[in-house]
Amino acid sequence: MAQFSDIWLKKFDVKVLDKIIEEFNLHHSDSYPVSAQPLFEALSIKVCTGIELPAGINAFTYRNHYDDYGVAVFNHELSEASLNHAIFHELGHLLFGEHGGRHGCVSKGGVVRKEEVEADLFACYLAAPGWKVKELFSQGYDFDQVCRLLVITPRLLELRVELLKAKGKYFIPLLNIYID
Ligand SMILES: [Zn+2]
Repeated sequence: MAQFSDIWLKKFDVKVLDKIIEEFNLHHSDSYPVSAQPLFEALSIKVCTGIELPAGINAFTYRNHYDDYGVAVFNHELSEASLNHAIFHELGHLLFGEHGGRHGCVSKGGVVRKEEVEADLFACYLAAPGWKVKELFSQGYDFDQVCRLLVITPRLLELRVELLKAKGKYFIPLLNIYID
């Protein structure tokens, strides 16, 4: 089974994401949603979906800092696309955020935190293969249809399209990274 290398996770970089996608064969099957299961398995995190959580809490993840295992819990009220979004978003936090502890995706005073943008960028890149997005648009599918076919939220497709358009010249000030 593929394992994560610490080196990959030191900074957010699309080359790192490409490496993860390749290593875990995430984009090899043409069925959607993209499965995040291999990544959770590598992290020893059990995924629990369909759980009754208080209103407004979509998901939370707990990871034991010392023994490297944990649980990711998702609200039963999420639509299929929102669940998929939440799953990859949480993975983004797990891989690029602080390891261990609890995390709640709360914005403080309406300011979107850096790590939330980072988690969504991670989510769009993994949940929506660039080649597939381009293929579907070139076949004439519209924005909503592409969302439905890939089982992703409009937010993830918007971000993915931005990344595709910006290839080679995109700077994300919030994250201080270049997309190349
Ligand atoms: Zn978050």
